[in-house]
Amino acid sequence: MAKVAINLSTGALQQEEVIVGIDLGTTNSLVAYIHPEDKKPIAINDQGRGTIVPSVVHFTQQGETIVGNEAKEYLTTDPANTIYSVKRLLGKSYKDLGEHKDYFGYKIIDDDSEGLVKIRVKDKFYSPIELSAEILKELRERAEHSLKTPVNRAVITVPAYFNDSQRQATRDAGKLAGLEVLRIVNEPTAAALAYGIGIDPNEEKTVAVYDLGGGTFDISILSIHQGIFEVLSTNGDTYLGGDDFDRAIINHWIQNNELIADTVNQDKHLSQELRLKAEEAKKTLSSQEVYTSTINGKLDCHLERHTFETLIAPIVARTMESCKQAMADAKMKPEQIDAVIMVGGSTRVPMVFEAVSEFFGKPANNSLNPDEVVALGAAIQADILAGNRKDILLLDVTPLTLGIETMGGLMDPIIPRNSKIPTKAGRQYTTSVDGQVNMKISVYQGERDVVKENRKLAEFDLKGIPAMPAGFPKVDVNFILNADGILKVEAIELRSGVRQEVEVKPQYGLTDQQVEQMLMDSITHAKEDVATRMQIEARTAAEQMLYQVERFVEKNGQHLTEEEINLTRENMQKLKDVLAANGDKDAIYAAVDRLEEQTSPFAERVMQISIKQAMAGKKIE
Ligand code: AMP
Repeated sequence: MAKVAINLSTGALQQEEVIVGIDLGTTNSLVAYIHPEDKKPIAINDQGRGTIVPSVVHFTQQGETIVGNEAKEYLTTDPANTIYSVKRLLGKSYKDLGEHKDYFGYKIIDDDSEGLVKIRVKDKFYSPIELSAEILKELRERAEHSLKTPVNRAVITVPAYFNDSQRQATRDAGKLAGLEVLRIVNEPTAAALAYGIGIDPNEEKTVAVYDLGGGTFDISILSIHQGIFEVLSTNGDTYLGGDDFDRAIINHWIQNNELIADTVNQDKHLSQELRLKAEEAKKTLSSQEVYTSTINGKLDCHLERHTFETLIAPIVARTMESCKQAMADAKMKPEQIDAVIMVGGSTRVPMVFEAVSEFFGKPANNSLNPDEVVALGAAIQADILAGNRKDILLLDVTPLTLGIETMGGLMDPIIPRNSKIPTKAGRQYTTSVDGQVNMKISVYQGERDVVKENRKLAEFDLKGIPAMPAGFPKVDVNFILNADGILKVEAIELRSGVRQEVEVKPQYGLTDQQVEQMLMDSITHAKEDVATRMQIEARTAAEQMLYQVERFVEKNGQHLTEEEINLTRENMQKLKDVLAANGDKDAIYAAVDRLEEQTSPFAERVMQISIKQAMAGKKIE
């Protein structure tokens, strides 16, 4: 096993090469680096535009893409072509969005499948990965422009509760933006590092990180020992934040000022004005006792701090409930917490600071800019990975990604490269064909998106899966990499208990040069690899869709009219034609979308019919 310091990456990592730290946020994103002279992390402020880049992407009429403050201006004037909060969609299926589907002002494709969501802008289909990549590209360009050097490597942060697929999506977004993602770091871990906690390997600490941003809240309890950060528990609400404070102020003004209430009903533009005023009031009250202003010189907007505090008290109380729950889950008492760290712009509200400090029984750390703290910590982590901090204990890591082959010959990473060992990770799979009784598990090593470019380590068949409809079997594939670098891969079908395993030594027969070459190739081919992956994913989604519709028509044809069946066949044929003509992913998704829109009412109808039949069949005694 390699040490990070040996630097298996390109072998050509110069000391002065900058590795940036990126906070890819729901509302705002930032990029930071370690200043080469004073060795302190700083957030990059390119051309005086500020350190904060709103995580908003706008597609102009001319087909250009703009990101950041400029894009934000189109949120109200052109919402269909302006994408915000894309982080909420990363690695998620349409089903995952549940009750929050209406939150978004742009078109999310409703194919109600298990597949990952796509967003339609004009006649193109984007995955959240591509949109996040646009934000990352902007950050990268700002960093390059400001530092006057190419930036090819980054550490990117994600919420501690992000699952495998969300982490992988973040990695892919980085790749697409031309960045080699050296590590995905938990946001609370980065925040702790920014405060210097966990840098000394001999330190043992338990830390609470309270993160209240514009639209999300989370609390994480971390245990830090020997340089290892362990997330003991997380809690929060992904739809709670400073925006709720703003809304509380607006409601208060409307309820207490008839003139505002009347005008708001008549003038749509006023609600936008009101929102801006409410945010301004909130921010002012973080340092002053009273806020007074007017809208258009006519409508009085007045607010005192104690009124504001009454308004937001229920919201703050909800965050404290989450803290309680997180502490209970971590089996911790407030007095066992060594430090409390404040993250996110909304922690500037004095009442929030007081509530958190009171709950944990000690003043929270808020000396660093709460908007920047995560990016600063990411920059520190990047510096550690660059081997610039000789004082830091370097743990064994796995130098190449380990994964398995999934549909279409794609590599599905299970243990990403640079993961500390020993480690264990797994994922659940299912069958794609009815009655499938065997599943081939092929284990690969490497950074490329298609397995044929990677190194095959092992292959085995999980045999004896009981025949079930496609999608029913649940096959857990676990990778266990021990401290000696031996990988055990086990596959278990959970419904039947059928089990199979192999052991391999991933490093066996690989020289450092070969590892370097594999990494170099992945960097050179990053963009085309992601494009290939997306193309294969689109084809796979299309093939699945055709399979399902075919089955549906076979089984339930009697409930459909001849005209409906013909139209379905026509749309299926169109999709098959696109596939046969090797259409690009947008053309494929457009055809999938058309078929989906046309057939989605059928399932509902058949369900209604079977419910009716079931009811009719029941006799009342
Ligand atoms: P973030 O998502 O961490 O960038 O946090 C943005 C949120 O912080 C928004 O709701 C802002 O209105 C809020 N915010 C920024 N500055 C202040 C301040 N001085 N007082 C209160 N809230 C603030």
